[in-house]
Amino acid sequence: MAKAINLGFPRIGGNRELKKALEAYWAGKLSAQELSAAAKEIRLSNWRMQSEAGIEQVPVGDFSFYDHVLDTAFTFDLIPERFRKLSSGSDLDLYFAMARGAAGTQAMEMTKWFDTNYHYIVPEIAGGEQFRLTRPTIVDSYSEAIQAGHPARPVLLSPVSFLLSGKTAGHSVDRFALLDGALEAYGELLRRLSHAGATWIQIDEPALALDLDAAARQAVVRTFERLSQAVPGLRILVATYFGPLLDNLDLALHLPVHSLHLDLVRGPEQLEPALRDAPRDLTLSLGLVDGRNIWKTDLASAFSLAEKAADRISCEQLFIAPSCSLLHVPVDLVSERYLSPEIRNWLAFGRQKLDEVVLLARGINEGRSAIAAELEANTAALAARRASKLVFDAAVRARMAAIEEKSLWRQSPHAERARQQQAVLELPPLPTTTIGSFPQTAELRRERLRMRKGEIPPVEYENFVRNEITQTIRSQEELQLDVLVHGEAERNDMVEYFGELLDGFVFTENGWVQSYGSRCVKPPIIYGDIVRPRPMTVWWWNFSRTQTSRPVKGMLTGPVTILQWSFVRDDQPRRDTCRQLGLVIRAESLDLEAAGCRIIQIDEPALREGLPLRAADAAEYLKWAVDCFRLASAAVKDSTQIHTHMCYADFNDIVDAVQAMDADVISLESARSRMETLDAFVRDRYSNDIGPGVYDIHSPRVPSKEEMVELLEKALQVVPAERLWVNPDCGLKTRRWEEVLPALKNMVAAAQEVRAKQTAD
Ligand code: GLN
Ligand code: ZN
Repeated sequence: MAKAINLGFPRIGGNRELKKALEAYWAGKLSAQELSAAAKEIRLSNWRMQSEAGIEQVPVGDFSFYDHVLDTAFTFDLIPERFRKLSSGSDLDLYFAMARGAAGTQAMEMTKWFDTNYHYIVPEIAGGEQFRLTRPTIVDSYSEAIQAGHPARPVLLSPVSFLLSGKTAGHSVDRFALLDGALEAYGELLRRLSHAGATWIQIDEPALALDLDAAARQAVVRTFERLSQAVPGLRILVATYFGPLLDNLDLALHLPVHSLHLDLVRGPEQLEPALRDAPRDLTLSLGLVDGRNIWKTDLASAFSLAEKAADRISCEQLFIAPSCSLLHVPVDLVSERYLSPEIRNWLAFGRQKLDEVVLLARGINEGRSAIAAELEANTAALAARRASKLVFDAAVRARMAAIEEKSLWRQSPHAERARQQQAVLELPPLPTTTIGSFPQTAELRRERLRMRKGEIPPVEYENFVRNEITQTIRSQEELQLDVLVHGEAERNDMVEYFGELLDGFVFTENGWVQSYGSRCVKPPIIYGDIVRPRPMTVWWWNFSRTQTSRPVKGMLTGPVTILQWSFVRDDQPRRDTCRQLGLVIRAESLDLEAAGCRIIQIDEPALREGLPLRAADAAEYLKWAVDCFRLASAAVKDSTQIHTHMCYADFNDIVDAVQAMDADVISLESARSRMETLDAFVRDRYSNDIGPGVYDIHSPRVPSKEEMVELLEKALQVVPAERLWVNPDCGLKTRRWEEVLPALKNMVAAAQEVRAKQTAD
């Protein structure tokens, strides 16, 4: 019998119960026991849901109070020294201190997990750490599942993927020097789990979807050679996901384990070689249901793949599964009350994906005819989606077809544009500006919520926003900033704001996915051709410019960022969807220009995170991503200044792509790294204007004028004064006015001081 299995389920709860419990606990409103009880409730409900759906062995250990990479560090006592000194309280508080920091102790870093929008806590590897099995909580969770009547399979993150996800204290630290100790401790954990009754263990090795060097590949082999011998009779499922294994496939197929899971959504073509080359006794787990997106599976194609496998290997050696953990999709479509029935019929969230997995397994076990009705309904739903008027827009298609190479080019090179822009703008050297948003106060959020709930009429909210904008402009004038912004008070979120004004997008009521810890996001769903029924930002821009005689930047979110932070259609390549987004932003930029806007910023903070997992695919991605930005930005006149913004410091590795974007001015995050990443490389490879952030907005601290002067002087070693801008690292949305005003005052003073020095020299 082929088995329906699942690799992991969302841990936030159907109504974000985990968020609520965590935040109440952090606020001191919930006891540790109450938090544990809430967590247990979520685990039990998840297991029940999966068992009821027909999943054979529920995953255990996929739940986490914050993050599963942090859990791994915690289980094996990989606790950075600075936290060991905190003797304050319980293990739980130590755990949260690592994730969130504690008075005077900096939290561990957080970064994106592979190419998802989920953030994990980055393990710190100083060198010489010893893995020790100090907190085997997963053994208790396993027993909890068994006691509740659910056959279960513990899930661990492999020590190799764990070590690779960490950051070492320096280049000389060899992360794999820790591996032998890790394998010892993992072996001990396997024995404990086996002792508690586990017969299968899932060990996730997502790193196999990456380019691995010889040392890493060897580490994978060594890991499974050792772990497969740790407990006689214990069966290991190695789970790979997020991409095809390519050059790592052969290695993966020959690991001495019972089963290998393959992501057949991202890599359907690897089934054939896997079937051909797999050792006879290897159980294959087929990841057929997309764990990264919200569309119904094309069951007919998925079933054909499963049948192909069933033709070649015995059903006893077949698992049917989602492509990866369902962590990255919302929990249940049933809680959506307001989706149009037409669109709802195209979607599958976590709960529905389980049904798809179970159905496919049943088809294999009982024959295609046993699931004929469901296959037919699925085919009909997919056909309806393809044919829907909602999906296809002839005018958009015509605009796509009309894109030419010259649509991607400004009229003149940057130097000439800069001359024309300066003639219009007459900015001082080292002009000062901000990234766009100003503090979103509790009051502003409250008014927005009241308006959304219909408690106040939209005009009342709009008046409130107008007032915020007026104040924001006034503050910037008082600060004597050179290029002003309206402050984005009307925007809840930089992607959602645009999505709500565009056709082709739909928003869910409860489609939350975990971003990090208690933080969840509700990505918009792009289901169809993207149409801009009317200008989206021009009214607000117009309002703000009447408040001042200084230039006000128009603020747009770039096509790549909108794409990256949404669930996107799977019926056309991402690049085509991105191009449609490029077209609507292009149209918006022209409307802003026609209204008199001379500076337009198109933010692309997510450009870099869209990089594919394999280096060989990077060039192709960067080409279309850059082209989409150029499509969005190149239509305006030479005298209109295009800005962009990116939120990462180390842009050295994509500097050529960023140069190719050809924005007149780019603002970047740099303050935290103290300009160190802005090295000479930039001087030689980047020739447009650049504003490396001098004020770290991620911290409440107000930087002094002196430290910003120092940063600017460092920047001047790499960027000539004629091309240097002065700005913070990112938007000020999350800060308080009390922090922002003195910080910007110091920033302007710093710019003035450096300017004066420049003219004196
Ligand atoms: N313009 C946006 C803001 O200032 C940019 C946000 C971002 O980079 N993530 O909020
Ligand atoms: Zn930013």
